[in-house]
Amino acid sequence: MKPTILLVNPPIYDFTAYDFWLKPYGLLRVGGLLRDHTDLYLFDYMDRNQPDFDRTLAAKTTQWGCGPYIKTKIRKPEIFSKIPRFFYRFGRKNEMFRNVLHSKKHLDFVCIQTSLTYWYPGVKEVIDDVRRIHPRATIVLGGFYATCCPSHAAALGADLVIRDSALSPLFERLQLPIPQGFTLPAWDLYPALSTGVIKLTQGCPFGCSYCYVPQSKVAFATRPVEECLEELDFLVGLGCTNIAFYDDALLYRPHEVLFPFLEAAIQRQYPVHFHTPNALHARFLTSEIAQLMIKAGVKTFYLGFESRSATFHGPSGGKVVSDDLVAAVEHLRRAGADMNCVTAYEMLGHPRFAAQQLEGSMRFAAQLGIRVMLSDFSPIPGTPDGELCRGIVDLDEPLSHNKTAFPILFLGSETVSYYKDLCRELNRTVRAK
Ligand code: SF4
Repeated sequence: MKPTILLVNPPIYDFTAYDFWLKPYGLLRVGGLLRDHTDLYLFDYMDRNQPDFDRTLAAKTTQWGCGPYIKTKIRKPEIFSKIPRFFYRFGRKNEMFRNVLHSKKHLDFVCIQTSLTYWYPGVKEVIDDVRRIHPRATIVLGGFYATCCPSHAAALGADLVIRDSALSPLFERLQLPIPQGFTLPAWDLYPALSTGVIKLTQGCPFGCSYCYVPQSKVAFATRPVEECLEELDFLVGLGCTNIAFYDDALLYRPHEVLFPFLEAAIQRQYPVHFHTPNALHARFLTSEIAQLMIKAGVKTFYLGFESRSATFHGPSGGKVVSDDLVAAVEHLRRAGADMNCVTAYEMLGHPRFAAQQLEGSMRFAAQLGIRVMLSDFSPIPGTPDGELCRGIVDLDEPLSHNKTAFPILFLGSETVSYYKDLCRELNRTVRAK
């Protein structure tokens, strides 16, 4: 008899959450490996296409498929008592999940996707429900929180914690060989799909000091383009009209996979829009890449631009300097990009805040006629910049990595509000141009 496996994408506990093309891609890829050998099911708490999703919120979905989640205001964890913000549980109702658990006579494995470290209360909620209703099911955690905080994750009550993509322990427990060769992610488990994600590469060759990717030791590699195109065909066939690239270094070594992928997408003339929520490297955004991306249907461009200050860039990995950003924006403009859909990410609350010269950097990006988005700094343990924050917060408690809370604790609420207001103001000016 085939083992019965339930894949779960948990709810989110946080001050804010927004569907910015969030999909449990790692979990779905594991699902793809399991598909032929198991009875496989999916429960995605964050699926905005479900019939139980609030219709008024669904109406707020943007033309690119992003939008708000259902949320319930809840009591703030004690650690956030000094943060002057409301705290919520985001995602579908817990009773929907319990109904699914009750509907299954038997469950052998429950595989739970974990994401940001400080979202672990949602993982715990899922574990507690599974333990109560299917006490004999083997609970498996994988994903970023499991990789970054394995001991903490194990203490939540899981039977198996998978770090990085080391899937052998899971397949050993299942007494199945790991399938060799390519399998499609289990997107077909969704009853309806309008947005999807894809990765053409794995890993990142750069070493930004605030990022966990270099610590994970996953070597950069491009995927075979035929596999990527098969995934694209699959997503389009299932109804996706917006697809986000989840790559950490999409523009690196573009001749190996990005160029042939975009050329094939142009040829196929799919009615699909592509997006780049993981920051693109402005330095690698050449005129050739800009033209191909626009022609292939890439609609939104997010460029990493932490600071225009050379003092900041020295120790932080030197990702993008001002000249790179100017050149990238010019290439996009000439290729015909909608400048309202070009955004520079800038970090708020970085421990070397003074060196970052944030206001000047924000104004610099806005003067180029593009939008600015503040990405709140999250201190990730094990990264050089995260470790700088040990004196400010208790890094061993993952809630303290929260990206809304940390900048407020570090800079104070007034300073944070000042930069958020400035950001809104700059973006208003850009829109008006
Ligand atoms: S380029 Fe992006 S993924 Fe790579 S190390 Fe820097 S922040 Fe991390």
